[in-house]
Amino acid sequence: MTSFIIKIFGIVQGVGFRPFVARLARELSLAGSVRNRGSYVEISLLCPRPKLDTFLSRLTAEAPERSAILRTDVRPALPSEAADKSLFPRPFAIADSFSEAGAVFVSPDIGICDRCRRELYDKGNRRYLHPFINCTACGPRLTILKSMPYDRERTSMSDFPMCDECRREYTDPTDRRYDAQPVCCPHCGPQVFILDGPEKDGEAITKIRANIIEGNIVAVKGIGGFHLVCSAADSRAVSLLRQRKNRPSKPFAVMVRDIDTAARECIIPTDKARELLTGPQKPILLLHRSAGSTIAPEVAPDNPHIGIMLPYTPLHHLIFDFPDDLNDRMPDTLVMTSGNPSGAPICRTDEEAREYLLSTGIVDAVLTNDRPILLRADDSVISMTDNEPVMIRRSRGYAPLPLVLSGEMKGSVLAIGGELKNSFCLAKDNLLYPSPYIGDMTDLRTAEALEESVLRLMSLLEISPNIIVADLHPRYNSLAVARRLAKKLSLPLVQIQHHYAHILSCMADNDCHEPVIGAAFDGTGYGPDGTIWGGEILRCDRAGFERIDSIPPFLQPGGDTAARCGRKIAAALIQQKYSSSLLPLESRSAADLVSPQELSAIEFQLRGQVNCVKSTSAGRLFDACAALLGLKGNSSFEGEAAMALEFATADIDSPAYKFHEDLARWTAAACEKARESCRLSTVALSGGVFQNTLLTALTRTHLTAAGFRVLTHRHIPPNDGGISIGQALYGLCILYKK
Ligand code: ZN
Ligand code: ZN
Ligand code: FE
Repeated sequence: MTSFIIKIFGIVQGVGFRPFVARLARELSLAGSVRNRGSYVEISLLCPRPKLDTFLSRLTAEAPERSAILRTDVRPALPSEAADKSLFPRPFAIADSFSEAGAVFVSPDIGICDRCRRELYDKGNRRYLHPFINCTACGPRLTILKSMPYDRERTSMSDFPMCDECRREYTDPTDRRYDAQPVCCPHCGPQVFILDGPEKDGEAITKIRANIIEGNIVAVKGIGGFHLVCSAADSRAVSLLRQRKNRPSKPFAVMVRDIDTAARECIIPTDKARELLTGPQKPILLLHRSAGSTIAPEVAPDNPHIGIMLPYTPLHHLIFDFPDDLNDRMPDTLVMTSGNPSGAPICRTDEEAREYLLSTGIVDAVLTNDRPILLRADDSVISMTDNEPVMIRRSRGYAPLPLVLSGEMKGSVLAIGGELKNSFCLAKDNLLYPSPYIGDMTDLRTAEALEESVLRLMSLLEISPNIIVADLHPRYNSLAVARRLAKKLSLPLVQIQHHYAHILSCMADNDCHEPVIGAAFDGTGYGPDGTIWGGEILRCDRAGFERIDSIPPFLQPGGDTAARCGRKIAAALIQQKYSSSLLPLESRSAADLVSPQELSAIEFQLRGQVNCVKSTSAGRLFDACAALLGLKGNSSFEGEAAMALEFATADIDSPAYKFHEDLARWTAAACEKARESCRLSTVALSGGVFQNTLLTALTRTHLTAAGFRVLTHRHIPPNDGGISIGQALYGLCILYKK
């Protein structure tokens, strides 16, 4: 017999891990104990050496489904430990927890599990129709957590003392609700109600269902914030929502009743896609709309894709299915979009919902509850590229699971992120914890939400940064937030170029240590020369970068505001005789694209070089091309024209397809030229433009044919939502060099 001390790092708290360890050890007749150490779980095990392997392999293979083991350290016990009889009781025991400082793993929020869903609709169960039913395998986590270790008094459930029956389940290691912090029941848990109305519980749910059936718009408080909800099958309701939210065409996400409904509305391409839809994270998956789809076209105008997700809270299920008399009229597809005034962060509190959604007339009723949301988390979004999932927005269900880098790193970093689609990242040693989605920093409310979320996640993850990293752009509000925090926390602030951060994020996503050639294509980023960058070929390593090439520069009229107007970009390109084979410029004249007044303004700007900027933005070439081809002259949201262009590529002979093909070829040729000078054979593709699945696939094909290894994004978004990860890696490298 040998005494071992085993440390398990990862998501091992509040997911039924310790009872599982106890069961396993007892089954193998091993003495010892297991305890929570705050940042990890520690097992003391008295075990014959040959049996240790069996124990460890079963520990990994049979771990509870919501746990995630990231690292296991095994060592023989020290003589003093081995002599401590209390560590090795027989039978094996679950011991009290003692917190110890170290890497912290906070579980993301988890969608309702099958067993809880069955109990939800079981008339004989004491949690029948309870909108907050959960267990060790499911329920909110990150969004209700105040601090670690994960215990009930440190969550927003501390306002709801457990009743005797719930406490019995919570403290019984054999119960499936053992140590599940949000455990509650209709007697002791939170309650749903209509905001500023008399209806509570079931009546409130019925009222919301009736509103949806009548074609009204409602708001529903979920896990990470409020959603705006209406029937997705009702064109009139969806148009009303667009009008009230002042959102003319940006697609809405749809929640469908179940996987069969999803299969009716969309083409689910692979088993992997089906698993993503039904799995515990419940992201929005971008899928092709099916021929028989019943979803109103207004949900995603001129768009062959639909963003689909399945219900992930008990309340979502109750909204679809409830024992009132409305079930036959209730739609099985619902628009579920973030409940926020345009530009601002998702509403988290009743006060915000009242101020921004109810009193402004965006919604007709609000279904809320009295369990506070402590951290905002929008829904995550995943697209399918070559039938492989690519993260587009990494938020609820994934944040703050860390990215684990190999190799040694030391130090702590706060990376504040970019300006659009902001997320920030906290890093400690070789662990990078991306935050949930925060939003667009152009709105000051979002900038406030950023600061608030940074401080909350810092305390939650017990990370005190040594350095703050921000973008180079002097006028970014995210930089202002970083400056404020640097002052408040007395920390040094370093800035990093936008496209370099994009490439570093792709390197981190692939745990790549070697230098790469980076192709960073996006809408806009501040270049160190004061011009707009966005079509860059860079030589990058973890210490720095060099700009090797870019798409040929052009003068972009109207500065950043022209981002919304592809017609003006196209007209300006024609007028300045932009020499690039990438665009079909000769096919149109500037006068076809813009009014005479607009044309003379553009000519004036170009001639005097006033109110126009030198730019290498690949995003603007997409906008110009969409305008030249008559597909989209103006965009109501960033990337709209590029999407229209991508959707026009079904035919290989279409001019839109040719544009993608030409850009992919140009990129491969530029990388080959770069290879001659820098002798690197790995290319990393990053930037929002590479959300375009066709461009990514074509570029990969050409690069592979030219003998390159190609790195693309998987877990971290290629768009600006991912740059905080690149910034964090940069910060870690600065600290480690010291
Ligand atoms: Zn459950
Ligand atoms: Zn209870
Ligand atoms: Fe970018």
